Amino acid sequence: MKYHDEIMHRRTFAIISHPDAGKTTLTEKFLLFGGAIQVAGAVKSNKIKKSATSDFMEIERQRGISVATSVMSFEYKGIQINLLDTPGHKDFSEDTFRTLTAVDSVILVVDSVNGVEEQTRRLMEVTRMRDTPVIVFINKMDRDGKNRFDLLEEIEKELSIALHPMTWPINSGKDFKGVYNLYDQNIRLFTANTKAEEEDTLNITDINDPVLDQKIGAADAAVLREDVELVDGVNGALNVADYLAAKVSPVFFGSAINNFGVKEMLDTFIRIAPPPKSRETTKRTVDAEEDKLSGFIFKIHANLDPKHRDRIAFFRVCSGKFERNKYYHHVRLDKELRFSNPYSFMARDKSIIQDAYAGDVVGLFDTGNFKIGDTLTEGEDFYFTGIPSFSPELFKEVVNKDPMKTKQLEKGLLQLTDEGVAQLFTQFGGTKKIVGCVGELQFEVIQYRLLHEYGASVEFRALPFYKACWLTSRDAKKLDEFSKFKLANTGEDKDGNLVYLAQSEWFLNTEITNNPDIEFHFSSEIH
Ligand code: GDP
Repeated sequence: MKYHDEIMHRRTFAIISHPDAGKTTLTEKFLLFGGAIQVAGAVKSNKIKKSATSDFMEIERQRGISVATSVMSFEYKGIQINLLDTPGHKDFSEDTFRTLTAVDSVILVVDSVNGVEEQTRRLMEVTRMRDTPVIVFINKMDRDGKNRFDLLEEIEKELSIALHPMTWPINSGKDFKGVYNLYDQNIRLFTANTKAEEEDTLNITDINDPVLDQKIGAADAAVLREDVELVDGVNGALNVADYLAAKVSPVFFGSAINNFGVKEMLDTFIRIAPPPKSRETTKRTVDAEEDKLSGFIFKIHANLDPKHRDRIAFFRVCSGKFERNKYYHHVRLDKELRFSNPYSFMARDKSIIQDAYAGDVVGLFDTGNFKIGDTLTEGEDFYFTGIPSFSPELFKEVVNKDPMKTKQLEKGLLQLTDEGVAQLFTQFGGTKKIVGCVGELQFEVIQYRLLHEYGASVEFRALPFYKACWLTSRDAKKLDEFSKFKLANTGEDKDGNLVYLAQSEWFLNTEITNNPDIEFHFSSEIH
């Protein structure tokens, strides 16, 4: 319990949204409140905008920006906040999914005009897998959005979550007048480009106070009173235990660009969001307050400078204290390693740190020792569970264009897949190497990096597969028969797990029906 105080004042979270909902804008406002940046516009969007002719350097440069802002740490009201950034582009969504395993809670941004969008749905599925507590921010209230009740109903239905409004909007679009804080029972009046000054707050102890009619007009005041009665009547006070158990999500309305409604959410966030919790491993539950260090690698990023091949491995501390220059046990390699230049991420500046505690993310220079899911401990052997590997959606055969560079190619493919850029399968009944990705853009990144970092020239040949599923069965014989019978459609992943590559949904469903003794999994846990 040595580190109780350190742990209790840490909050590690991610902001997730469909691209363009306002994640970057909200991040920037948070950093302004935390004093980590002084001016608006300092946070660069990590969005990858694909031009008609792909510019690989541009992709890399933009990915570089996302490294610099991968973890943003700042202090707010005595709380150390670690905000983990997630790539917005859907081709890199696997990166995002894995980052979500390293956070303790999330804030979901929903655009009030567009409502629930494709990426919102996918991201929420991942948070649900881990019962991660979610706070919802309904953004762009300064635009003519959907009706507030309809929007809440849509979010609840589409994302299968229960919502609990914490603030309530007074109109939207050009008539947007502000929000009523259901918790503090005051009104924040909306002025565009507000700096969240206190004077914009109207304190009323009674919503029937006639001063409300003067400020927002009798008609709007009447609607607000009606709304609040309805919402309060249904919800009552937020049950924080239900939020922590991911059973209910508090909702805030606001406008990130106008810094409106952001402070209310941040204040609630530090009040209710969970500090680092205990985590499951392959051996036992590890409590965040244990004295000994443990943690795992959830992301690896290549160095952008081709002269320096080292990479940055992102290590989430789960218990104990991480210290510079101290030896730790690398479980998979059964090796003791120490780190002389561990980095912390304070906004956009990287700086060397001396120590870190549960909830913190440390950047470790890596010359090829790490892959995603690796664990460091003070001697005990275990892995953290629940770090997912998802079924890719695009498959291509690797065609080696330069047989003299076969060794480099193999090394490059292994390292890039260790980084989690793509998944590698070897087909049975041949030596075909198949790369599986979530998005087209990743093939371009792989081709470019194989050439520039490993000197290996490849082309990709599209394969007509629709999904890869991992197969398990209690009856080993059944698996054996299946793979012999379906030679062209089975293979193994990099770790030797049996994989079925289905040509279409129809084939997949047919095989599932015909093979009741075999389980088909659409994601595999790394451990
Ligand atoms: P991200 O893709 O989720 O990171 O979204 P951004 O933060 O880059 O925002 C996308 C666009 O929406 C930008 O043009 C922002 O200026 C704009 N935007 C963000 N918040 C608001 C808001 O509250 N109101 C309006 N009208 N526009 C906003």
